[in-house]
Amino acid sequence: MKIGVVGCAGRMGRMLVAEILANKGCELAGGTEMVGSPAIGQDVAVLAGKPESGLQVGDDAGALMAVADLVVDFTVPDATAAHARQAAEHVAAMVIGTTGLSAEQQALIHALARKAPVVQAANMSVGINLLLGLTEQVAKSLGDDFDIEILEMHHRHKIDAPSGTALALGDAAAKGRQVDLAAVAQRVRDGYTGERKPGDIGFATLRGGDVAGEHSVIFAGEAEQIVLSHKATSRAIFVRGAIRAALWTEGRPPGLYSMRDVLGLT
Ligand code: NAD
Repeated sequence: MKIGVVGCAGRMGRMLVAEILANKGCELAGGTEMVGSPAIGQDVAVLAGKPESGLQVGDDAGALMAVADLVVDFTVPDATAAHARQAAEHVAAMVIGTTGLSAEQQALIHALARKAPVVQAANMSVGINLLLGLTEQVAKSLGDDFDIEILEMHHRHKIDAPSGTALALGDAAAKGRQVDLAAVAQRVRDGYTGERKPGDIGFATLRGGDVAGEHSVIFAGEAEQIVLSHKATSRAIFVRGAIRAALWTEGRPPGLYSMRDVLGLT
């Protein structure tokens, strides 16, 4: 499989390029960056700390999609939306890890998924995808007398909050309780908030240092708490998950798939 990496100079992008070059099951088709990026024209592999590949970083994702079987996208929501639109034109498969997409941007991904296989997950790690299932199950078993709070911490460079994974965990808890997350989510608390509303699902966000990603789902009852936690100590788990997802799409019909589909957890 020939895989292209859009946003190849980013933290995830560089690691994805290195993983594709190391994986015998796939080949690097090339990489792009945003128009005006100092990375344009540099060797994609050298940027990722690998020997020269002869592939230069470009700024035309459409041209990359014309030569790649699949494109991996860990960029920013605006870019991912534009890439999804271009992939629909080229009927190119995608693996999407970008978080913080609006409903409008998400609609473009649904449109692409009608034409090509797309794997989208706010978190590509095996552990978090297990945690999603456990969260749904515990929320279903415990009922409303346990308050659900979701706590997350990420590195200082993260630009969206709560994290896509925290929201996915909230969604899993809401699903377990058979409610709509949007109706019960408390994403921010500040000042005179009044008492906690029964049934709310609360979020708390911490940012600092180089934390790759920590998430806890707290079920707080009277005189007892259950806490489900996951700590990522390296972004390598997301990178390996993304490449596994890419290879999994081979021969799949068009559709929007989750990492839980890829891991056989659904
Ligand atoms: P980053 O800022 O280091 O990298 C993003 C890159 O995208 C940058 O190099 C930027 O120049 C590039 N970019 C922006 N616009 C572009 C365009 N139009 N065309 C091509 N490239 C463009 O960020 P990061 O830490 O690598 O994270 C990227 C995204 O991935 C974030 O949304 C983050 O939350 C998400 N993420 C998801 C997972 C997961 O498992 N799903 C794991 C880690 C990070």
